[in-house]
Amino acid sequence: MNIDSPYLHPQYEALSREEITKLQNERLQETVRQCMKVPFYQQKFKELGITADDIKTVEDVRKLPFTTKTDLRDTYPFGMAAVELKECVRLHSSSGTTGNPTVILHTQRDLDEWANQVARNLWMVGLRPNDVFQNSSGYGMFTGGLGFQYGAERMGMLTVPAAAGNSLRQIKFMRDFGTTAVHAVPSYVTRLYEVMQEQGVDPRRDTKLRVLAIGAEPHSEEQRQRIEQMMGVKAYNSFGMSEMCGPGVGFECQEQNGLHFWEDYYIVEIVDPDTLEPVPDGEIGELVLTTLCREAMPLLRYRTRDLTRVLGRTCPCGRNHVRLDRMRGRSDDMMVLRGVNIFPIQIEKILMTFPELANNYLITLTTDDDNDNMTVEVELAEMFTDDYARLQKLNKDITRALKDEILLTPHVKLVAKGTLPVSEGKAVRVVDKRKVYQ
Ligand code: AMP
Ligand code: ZN
Repeated sequence: MNIDSPYLHPQYEALSREEITKLQNERLQETVRQCMKVPFYQQKFKELGITADDIKTVEDVRKLPFTTKTDLRDTYPFGMAAVELKECVRLHSSSGTTGNPTVILHTQRDLDEWANQVARNLWMVGLRPNDVFQNSSGYGMFTGGLGFQYGAERMGMLTVPAAAGNSLRQIKFMRDFGTTAVHAVPSYVTRLYEVMQEQGVDPRRDTKLRVLAIGAEPHSEEQRQRIEQMMGVKAYNSFGMSEMCGPGVGFECQEQNGLHFWEDYYIVEIVDPDTLEPVPDGEIGELVLTTLCREAMPLLRYRTRDLTRVLGRTCPCGRNHVRLDRMRGRSDDMMVLRGVNIFPIQIEKILMTFPELANNYLITLTTDDDNDNMTVEVELAEMFTDDYARLQKLNKDITRALKDEILLTPHVKLVAKGTLPVSEGKAVRVVDKRKVYQ
């Protein structure tokens, strides 16, 4: 095996399956001991009639209690801390649209390990210290900013902390500073490309861009391929979540065959969201993660709500850390329309197969005359609004393809480019205006 990264635990990156299990056995015991300092977990263990001594191997993870976002909210702000606050050096907090937000605490060691994780991923996709890395994530509570910043610095790249928005400035920085790699949410890459086009900038000709890290929101394989073609780069899927630290939890290698989730940092389980029993490899279920290296706020069996499946546990790249499929979305993103379960990503996948369409779309759910309906508005890649017959045929083809995928007939509206709202952070893909009957 040739994992040539000189950075940060290459010995852990290259572990065999047996070695991963051995390391997880040790780290799980340490983590459980750390959790026993948290009253929340003391209580949970008591309820389940278990003690830390019952947990010896990674198989024993199934004896452990689950942790949910509600638990984090209920213990807001510092109830999940396993160390004294004076040992913590930073917190990140997720925006709570309802109720309390959640707080994630970090010691200096936690932050160091997080930077190591991100650096490992950036090296894995072929970036090197002579690369120039521009981060278009918001810096602040959103972990995509500081998370990538410290990871890219640790790897030794020249970093451009451009932060979110201001596309003209982003493009100027890319050209002036010779940016070779950018981190962005996929919906923002599309926006950036549109502004480049308006400015007569060709990313292939006018920039040195070669790698994009895209993540923080669900996107389809078709969307990724479009981004690669538009920008003339390789685009790698990056998975992160604040509760697990932020970016760096899972990342695609150069094979682009799923996300390697780092098992020296996490125990990965995929469970049936209803029964909470494990599902066999290859079957879709909810991703459940147990932290293995966290000091300030270790989490046992955290229910992410993200739906995915195991693709494999080996890879031609030489890494044996489990490979997971790109996320289908979160179980709470699922729309139930007239009894049919639909994920926004299913719609995106179909839209992206039509070259006449641009990348921005919006799904609106409404109640009309007591019927629930779906409207899919999607931007056209070019203007041919005067060619009515062509538009009508395209609309019909899209409607039929969507019906084949989601088993319902949506109203499709083709709109001009730049008409739909663009957000600087994660894209809003669904607006639900349905009446709720009690
Ligand atoms: P946050 O904690 O605000 O960063 O949000 C984390 C959530 O963003 C995850 O639980 C996922 O639902 C979503 N997410 C992050 N990265 C990806 C990705 N690469 N693909 C799909 N969803 C993602
Ligand atoms: Zn790989």
